[in-house]
Amino acid sequence: MVERDATKTPAVLPAHAIEVGTGPLDKPARNSVGGWPFLDEAQEWPLCFCGERMALFFQLDIPLDVEHFGGDHLLVFHCRTHNDASDPKTADGRLVPRFWDAPQPPYPRPFWRVLLQRHAALPAAESEPSLSGLPLTLRSFVDTPGPYGIGAQTFKVGGTPSWAQEPEHYTCACGADLVYVCQVPEGMEFDDESDGLFLGNEIYLLACPSHCDPAAVWPVNQN
Ligand SMILES: [Zn+2]
Ligand SMILES: [Zn+2]
Repeated sequence: MVERDATKTPAVLPAHAIEVGTGPLDKPARNSVGGWPFLDEAQEWPLCFCGERMALFFQLDIPLDVEHFGGDHLLVFHCRTHNDASDPKTADGRLVPRFWDAPQPPYPRPFWRVLLQRHAALPAAESEPSLSGLPLTLRSFVDTPGPYGIGAQTFKVGGTPSWAQEPEHYTCACGADLVYVCQVPEGMEFDDESDGLFLGNEIYLLACPSHCDPAAVWPVNQN
């Protein structure tokens, strides 16, 4: 008898395609491009090191079937002026303490902020001024990993990342291994005016399953 090696069969994880609707939004929506950010009460709208408020590119409620992060509210902010690929800083095999604030040469700090909020009940009073607000719809789909164990190359939450290069794994400063949660495909355009997020690189958001900090999310960039 030849036994099948179960470890070689990647699991099919709950996945949701993220679809961008037509706008503009005329009132707050929890799942949106632009729009009114839903932040925890103590959480300020993030500022870039340049002093400008970062733009809310998108936000969504993570579906409950997504392990570790179901029920969290994910928000992705990025400066309108500063743009580059992300550059992870590690020490002793882990991302450095407060890696979400670590320098990104030539910049003194990151030009993005990704947040997982757990008590984001109310929308901000103001909407994102630099992006046209659009609704997002999440649609469950079967993200069956392909021959190399990679998932669909699409805008999605959950499922399996479609690594453009070698898979990247990071350990949070708190000791927990970061877990993939959301993918933004290469060249995704949120409007006509910007270079997109991280110069249009594909983005794999890896987040701390221990929720040691709302900003403990690393945006892996590949192309
Ligand atoms: Zn900036
Ligand atoms: Zn952590």
